[in-house]
Amino acid sequence: MTTHLAEEPTPEDESQCWCCGATQPSNEMVRLGAHPEVTLCLRCAHFVHRRAQEIEDRGRTGLGARTRDVVRGIRGQVIQHGWQHNRVLGPPMRWIDRHLP
Ligand SMILES: [Zn+2]
Repeated sequence: MTTHLAEEPTPEDESQCWCCGATQPSNEMVRLGAHPEVTLCLRCAHFVHRRAQEIEDRGRTGLGARTRDVVRGIRGQVIQHGWQHNRVLGPPMRWIDRHLP
């Protein structure tokens, strides 16, 4: 029986995110299937997921796609104005954003 434990990253190992450059424990990073040397932190993995969904939504006209489009527009306005960094409004807006598509 073959085990892959030797290839599993240990909590002490750290990797650098290929997107933002942040360094985090390897076992908390997402690895690409065909290129396991490429690691993404969870924030960037969520960002990539949203970008993929945006590309998929380009050809869709359903309620879900239109709703996500509106959410993306609002998110863009919030980021453009920097409201996510506001001491009072920032924390609830970031919480809401984590639960939006
Ligand atoms: Zn990152």
